[in-house]
Amino acid sequence: MQKIHELARSVDVVLETDVLVVGSGPGGLAAALAAARAGARTALIDRNGCFGGNITQVGVEGFAWYRHENTVDCEGIGIEFEERAKAMGAAMPEPQSLSHALDAEMFKWVADTLVQEAGVTPLLHRLCVAPIMEKSVILGVITESKAGREAILAKRVVDATGDADIAARAGAPFHKSLKKDMMAVSVMFSMSGVNKRRFIDSVKADPQTYADWSGNGEWDYETTGKEDQLFSPFLRKPFKKALDAGLIPPYLHTIAGTWGTVTDQGDLTYLNLVHVPEIDGTDPNDLTLGEMRGRREAIYAMEALRKFMPGCEDAKLRNFGMTLGIRDTRKIDALYNLTGNDVREQARFDDAIGIFPEFIDGYGILILPTTGRYWHVPYRALVPKGVGNLLVAGRSIGGDKVSHASARNMMCCAVSGQGAGVAAAVSIQRDEAFDALNIGAVQSELARQGARFR
Ligand SMILES: Cc1cc2nc3c(=O)[nH]c(=O)nc-3n(C[C@H](O)[C@H](O)[C@H](O)COP(=O)(O)OP(=O)(O)OC[C@H]3O[C@@H](n4cnc5c(N)ncnc54)[C@H](O)[C@@H]3O)c2cc1C
Repeated sequence: MQKIHELARSVDVVLETDVLVVGSGPGGLAAALAAARAGARTALIDRNGCFGGNITQVGVEGFAWYRHENTVDCEGIGIEFEERAKAMGAAMPEPQSLSHALDAEMFKWVADTLVQEAGVTPLLHRLCVAPIMEKSVILGVITESKAGREAILAKRVVDATGDADIAARAGAPFHKSLKKDMMAVSVMFSMSGVNKRRFIDSVKADPQTYADWSGNGEWDYETTGKEDQLFSPFLRKPFKKALDAGLIPPYLHTIAGTWGTVTDQGDLTYLNLVHVPEIDGTDPNDLTLGEMRGRREAIYAMEALRKFMPGCEDAKLRNFGMTLGIRDTRKIDALYNLTGNDVREQARFDDAIGIFPEFIDGYGILILPTTGRYWHVPYRALVPKGVGNLLVAGRSIGGDKVSHASARNMMCCAVSGQGAGVAAAVSIQRDEAFDALNIGAVQSELARQGARFR
C-alpha cells in the first residue's frame, strides 16, 4: 500500500487530570462517576455529542431485561442509571422483565445531569486517536476534533471505547474474532404512529416466547429449558409473511428480533430487528457497509410491519440510531481472562469488583437469571497486559466468547466501569500500580459507593 509520512508537530496540552475516561457508554459513564466520587479529578471524553454510548447513540434501551423475581442483581451505579432514569421520566416499564427500559433520547439528559453532579469534566466531540506513551506507560491521549489535535494528560486512563481503541494502540495484546464469527451488527430504529391498543392486543393474542427465537439457521438458541416458555417481545411472523408475499427478498430471512416499549403516544421503540453479519466494527469500510445495508434492511422491516403487524398500519420511521450498533470487536488479553465456565458456573474471585447475574445472551446462547445464580467480576479482567496506568472497562474486558455474551450486557459494563473508576482513583491515592493494587482498598471504596462484590 502507498504510504505518506505525517510531519512531527507539537500539540497543545489542553487539560491535565487525575483520571481520564475515554468513551461514555455504560462502562465509561460509570467509571467516570465512580472515579470522581472516589475523590479523583476526572474527565470523560466521547467522540459524539452525548454521553451514554450504545444507550443514547445506538438506541439500546433494554438495560435490565434479564431481571426476574428471583434474580440476584448487582448494586451500584448501573442500578442508579435505571433509578435515576425512572425519576427523571426517562424510563418505561419493560415488557418481559421486572425492569425499566431506558428512553434513549431522555437518557442523554440523565447522563449530562449525572456527569455535572459528580463534577466530572465533560469533553464531548473528541475522538481519541492515539495514546501518549512513555515507554510502556500511558500518560494521556491525543484527540482530534473541530479544534484539530489536542493532548490531554492523566495519571490514569480508563479505556471504555468498547473497541479497546486506546489499549490496542498503546500496544496491549488483544483478541478479535474472525469476521465470520463476530456477532452481527444492527441498525436500531424506532417508529411513531403505532396504534398501541391494536399492537398490544395482537401481541397478547399470539404471545411469543424465547423458544420462538430458534427457528431458522440464523437463530438457533441454546437455553437451559427454563427460559423457553417465558414471554419475549419477539417478532418474526410479520417478516415471514412478508418473505412469503415477496415483500422482502429471500436472503433477508434474518430479519426478526425484539421490540422494546410502545408508548401511549404511539412510539414503538428499540426495534432490534436488523442483523448484518461479517462486519468488523474497527474497520470504517465495514462500518460504512453496515450502516447502509442496515438502513436498507430496516426499511424492508418497516414495510413488513406496516403490512403484517396489527397497529403498525400507519406507522412511520421515528429515528434510526445515531450510529450502527456494534456488539463484538477487540477483547484485551487481561491479567485474567474470563471463561464461559466462569459465567455459567458462578465463579467466585477474591479480587471481585462486582457481581453480575447468570445472564448470557449471544453466540447462540440465551440463559436468563431466573434462579438467583450470579458470578463475580474479577478486577484482573480489567487490567491489560504490558501497558502501565491503563485499565479497560465495558465490553472489551478480557474473556472468551461465552463470557463476553454475559459481560457485554450494559449492566455488567456498568459494573466493570465502576470497578475501573474506583481502582483508578485508589491507585492514585495509594501510589500503587494497577498490577500491584491493594484490592481491599478498592473493595472498601466500592462498598462505600454502594456496589456489591460478594
Ligand atoms: C444492537 C444492539 C443491541 C443490544 N442490546 C442489548 C440489550 O438489550 N441489553 C444489554 O444489556 N446490552 C445490549 N447490547 C450490548 C450493549 O449495548 C453493549 O455491549 C454495551 O453498551 C457496551 O458498553 P461499553 O460502555 O463497553 O461501550 P459502548 O456503549 O459502545 O460505548 C462506547 C463509547 O465510547 C465512545 N468511543 C468509542 N471510541 C472512541 C474514541 N476512539 N474516542 C472517543 N470516544 C470513543 C463511543 O462514542 C461510545 O460512546 C446491545 C448491543 C447492540 C449493538
